[in-house]
Amino acid sequence: SDGGNVKVVVRVRKFVKRETDKQSPCLVEMNPQTNETILHPPELTPGEEKSQKKQYEEKRFTFDKSFWSHNEGDAHYAQQHDIYASFGEEFLDHNFDGYHTCIFAYGQTGSGKSYTMMGTPDQPGLIPRTCRGLFERIEAEQNSSITYNVHVSYFEIYNEHVKDLLTKGTNPPTYLKIRESPSDGVYVQTLTDESVKCYEDIERLMKTGDMNRTTASTKMNDTSSRSHAVFTLTLKQIQHDIATDSTIERLARMRLVDLAGSERANRTEATGQRLREGGNINQSLTTLGRVIAALADPKRQRASRLTGTQHNQTKRRAEVVPYRDSVLTWLLKDSLGGNSKTAMVACISPTDYDETLGTLRYADQAKRIRTRAHVNQDAVT
Ligand code: ADP
Ligand code: MG
Repeated sequence: SDGGNVKVVVRVRKFVKRETDKQSPCLVEMNPQTNETILHPPELTPGEEKSQKKQYEEKRFTFDKSFWSHNEGDAHYAQQHDIYASFGEEFLDHNFDGYHTCIFAYGQTGSGKSYTMMGTPDQPGLIPRTCRGLFERIEAEQNSSITYNVHVSYFEIYNEHVKDLLTKGTNPPTYLKIRESPSDGVYVQTLTDESVKCYEDIERLMKTGDMNRTTASTKMNDTSSRSHAVFTLTLKQIQHDIATDSTIERLARMRLVDLAGSERANRTEATGQRLREGGNINQSLTTLGRVIAALADPKRQRASRLTGTQHNQTKRRAEVVPYRDSVLTWLLKDSLGGNSKTAMVACISPTDYDETLGTLRYADQAKRIRTRAHVNQDAVT
């Protein structure tokens, strides 16, 4: 098995119109040589300074990669392609080798998660590029002894309910059940898992899914900002060796996750009113935080290296990771702390000190998580 840390990258987006209109300053700086991300304190007016309880400070973080997507004129500007080239392609290599992978985007609403994962028709993101790359490789493969099977599923977790994004919505909505079996692990029951033969097949499904996800609302609290979207590709390779008349199957699952907005539930709406969502916090997102904290806990990491009965107590206490406390973490258990090569894209706004610091701290913690991926290969007789 192949142990490795979760790969963590950060991406800062350009100003959106609201920020340009307000002439908001850019608080984020990135050093392309060191991959350091620097968060500068906002400048306060003397009045604000007095009423300010906490002190804003400059903060520095280092990630596997810092993507500067703030101003296109910059020599180090990171395009959609650069994100894919930096680790999307590498993750696809892993899939063809038979590893499961997971890439998830984290950040406050409006920080660029959907832009990074799905993108736009002109500027496709990681998901369409991965799908295209997948079929380019399959089509380039001249070896007739390998058969490829690709399946796609797309679901959403909203309010701890799972909704199939590839079937038309019903009224009342249909929620799918989660099941666990010894052979398949945790899965969503009766979820559409469509067989696809080419990129255009997937493109059609992505459109269907995004249409089912999008809501007309442009408020900060619309469905897409409170729901998690999980796009999954499954690649099965069946390789027949004529010389030995043996068949090998390799199975890889790629999870591409666009998480709900990380801002706290008390974020103000356009109306300036406090948003409470009936006291309903996003349980999946909160639990994800606890799972990451538990997995990143140095005590737990030390304990997992220990052997011998005298350490059983320490081990047991340290190893309780609350996967089952939310739908998201239960379904992504393997992707987060198990059999998967995993990456996190932390998306940040250039102007929001508090939220950006929150995201950078979260990402910093995720760097410490180690997964144990292995090749999923079986001999078929
Ligand atoms: P989120 O999914 O995190 O809520 P979006 O991906 O919808 O955020 O991004 C918010 C806005 O910013 C959108 O209009 C999007 O097109 C734009 N945007 C985000 N990231 C970039 C980027 N790297 N380059 C250009 N525009 C971006
Ligand atoms: Mg979004």
